[in-house]
Amino acid sequence: MTVITKKIQIKSRSENDILDITDKVSEVVKESKMENGAIIVFVVGSTAAITTIEYESGLRKDFPEMLSRLAPREIEYAHDNTWHDGNGHSHVRASLIGPSLAIPLIEGHLTLGTWQQIVLIELDTRPRERKIIVQMIGD
Ligand code: ZN
Repeated sequence: MTVITKKIQIKSRSENDILDITDKVSEVVKESKMENGAIIVFVVGSTAAITTIEYESGLRKDFPEMLSRLAPREIEYAHDNTWHDGNGHSHVRASLIGPSLAIPLIEGHLTLGTWQQIVLIELDTRPRERKIIVQMIGD
């Protein structure tokens, strides 16, 4: 069993920017020459998230709208009262979705559905430079 760790750097443009990172992750996995194992994709930071979605314009609108219903920007957050950085909603949304994703690698293929892309969701209130760790555990 081998463990290979790679880093992907990506810039987000704004809050609720949803970036399709499927090709970048696939590239890193291909370069590793690993055939079977677990691929962990993890974003460093507490105001961004990683998940999968069908990457199409409707859902790119629906998903942020769902988040604003669950954790509205306008309500009071204790985090903002303490730190005054205005991103309490960003933190709770990020925790809800989670910072990582595990994808089974089988016979050299990431087992994603045709309409299932890996995405980074920017939840902070400004553009950020994001560091994504891809850790591959297998053979
Ligand atoms: Zn904050």
